Amino acid sequence: MKKMIKAVGLAFAILFSGGVGVAHADATNPKIGFSIDDLRLERWARDRDYFTAAAQKLGAKVYVQSADASEQRQIAQIENLISRGVDVLVIVPYNATVLNNAIREAKKAKIKVVSYDRLILNADVDAYVSFDNKAVGELQAQSLVNLKPKGNYYLLGGAPTDNNAKILREGQMKVLQPLVDKGDVKIVGKQWVKDWSASEAMAIVENALTASGNKIDAVVASNDGTAGGAIQALAAQKLAGKVLVSGQDADLAAVRRVIAGTQTMTVYKPLRALASNAASVAVQLVRNQKPAYNAQMHNGVKNVDSLLLKPVLLNKSNVDLLVKDGFYSQAQLAGK
Ligand code: BGC
Repeated sequence: MKKMIKAVGLAFAILFSGGVGVAHADATNPKIGFSIDDLRLERWARDRDYFTAAAQKLGAKVYVQSADASEQRQIAQIENLISRGVDVLVIVPYNATVLNNAIREAKKAKIKVVSYDRLILNADVDAYVSFDNKAVGELQAQSLVNLKPKGNYYLLGGAPTDNNAKILREGQMKVLQPLVDKGDVKIVGKQWVKDWSASEAMAIVENALTASGNKIDAVVASNDGTAGGAIQALAAQKLAGKVLVSGQDADLAAVRRVIAGTQTMTVYKPLRALASNAASVAVQLVRNQKPAYNAQMHNGVKNVDSLLLKPVLLNKSNVDLLVKDGFYSQAQLAGK
């Protein structure tokens, strides 16, 4: 009897969802749970806004949660989204390696999972949408090397819990290693920055300057937040603008530093494109359609179908692109 009730229930669910395979999914108006590591950071708030707008256009409803850099909070929020009955989860992981149980639960409930910007490791993720992070790392190192092909380089990595930090480093080393081998570039130190924290980055660079007697020519910073910390440490030694510093994200403060000459470059990642591609991948998965991927990324347990967008090098000569793209207004760039 119990079995029969179950079977009838399932038949109803399939009838109402209009398809087989997605027992409870609502293909017309999918519910998307968007779990973001940390909405307190400038770029992720933009991701949320662009994503929500794009998803709504596709008929979806988005439930957003911010874990504020806590792995326990993120797990609890994902569990909460699962019990609210979302059809697909889109996740910016705080810690790439701790979500496998939560994702197993999601998959049991027939919920699709999309990894957003950062790859979730060791879990059954359906898709990954991001920028080509190896290319970001290459742009960072190449921009500095073009200006200083010889010298002492310090590697300021991202958060050790973020898979992107490792991929960025791979890209940076692809450019730097041949110069290290030739003896032109010397890596005088390297450190990962917990939680991509700007204040931690500042402390690390202060120590590096002390340890090397200020003999650092370039800091390969992996994003704009940590670049900001590095530049504060340099400024205290009157070295801001003399030591090359890379970045990424085109944060407003960073773009102003690029214009002022204290930060050498940043990497512009058109977040609207990332967000709208991720929204359409999420909706397509619920609708059992096949999204267009252009790569596969191994996450420790599987090759994850991936869509990797192209990052754009940004320095003093092309900051106008941000205005053209509607990322900032001219007044914002001018600090008004
Ligand atoms: C993102 C960067 C961001 C960093 C810190 C990385 O995973 O790709 O754009 O600056 O996280 O939030």
